[in-house]
Amino acid sequence: MYKYLKEEAYEANMEIKRNNLAIYTWGNSSAFDPGKGVFAIKPSGVEYDLLKPQSMVIVDLDGNIIEGKLKPSSDTKTHQVLYREFSQFADKNIRGITHTHSTYAVAWAQAAKSVPVFGTTHADHCFPQENGTNEIPCTDFMSEEAVKNNYELETGNLIADTFKKSNLNPVFNNMVLVAGHGPFTWGGSAAESVYNSAVLEEICKMAFLTLAINPAANPLPEHIVKKHWERKHGLNAYYGQ
Ligand SMILES: [Zn+2]
Repeated sequence: MYKYLKEEAYEANMEIKRNNLAIYTWGNSSAFDPGKGVFAIKPSGVEYDLLKPQSMVIVDLDGNIIEGKLKPSSDTKTHQVLYREFSQFADKNIRGITHTHSTYAVAWAQAAKSVPVFGTTHADHCFPQENGTNEIPCTDFMSEEAVKNNYELETGNLIADTFKKSNLNPVFNNMVLVAGHGPFTWGGSAAESVYNSAVLEEICKMAFLTLAINPAANPLPEHIVKKHWERKHGLNAYYGQ
């Protein structure tokens, strides 16, 4: 059972490795089936070279292990909270989540800085929101109480609260930096969530270099931001075949 979901999660986890988004056992991807309310996730502490589709663990949204012999990723509770919280955006289900420790994304997270939109690479991937920004948000540092309570679960709550507070729609902005920790990304499939992790790493690298060349660099003018989003995702999108 759940063979399709395990294969999807396995492929996404191997993509983390192929894209050099994590070393050793760092990083994890999961694949969610909203109809069944379960997701497949990487087992904890198993190196990518040793992973098999069968080693993926099936978990429900209450954290119960439904199928699998191994212990699920230590970040499972973060995935669980995000699937639950973000499922309210019924217009498009979130079916995949990826967490990595890719260098440039982690550097921005450690600096506790949201990533400003400096160019069209960023504008192509993050929708300008109702509050007028399409920065990639960075959360606040987690409180001592939250860390003591249930660290991984509270990491999910921290991300969900950051989106609520800033009135961000996770369907249009599928990347976040957790302060002092690193990136989480999601998408319409597990594969899309890893793709977004790779894109985020590239955007963070470009933004860092932009500020190294010119610490006073200005964000991309709004009319260019809009044009780039619309030609890729708007009603009259014309990017691609
Ligand atoms: Zn981590």
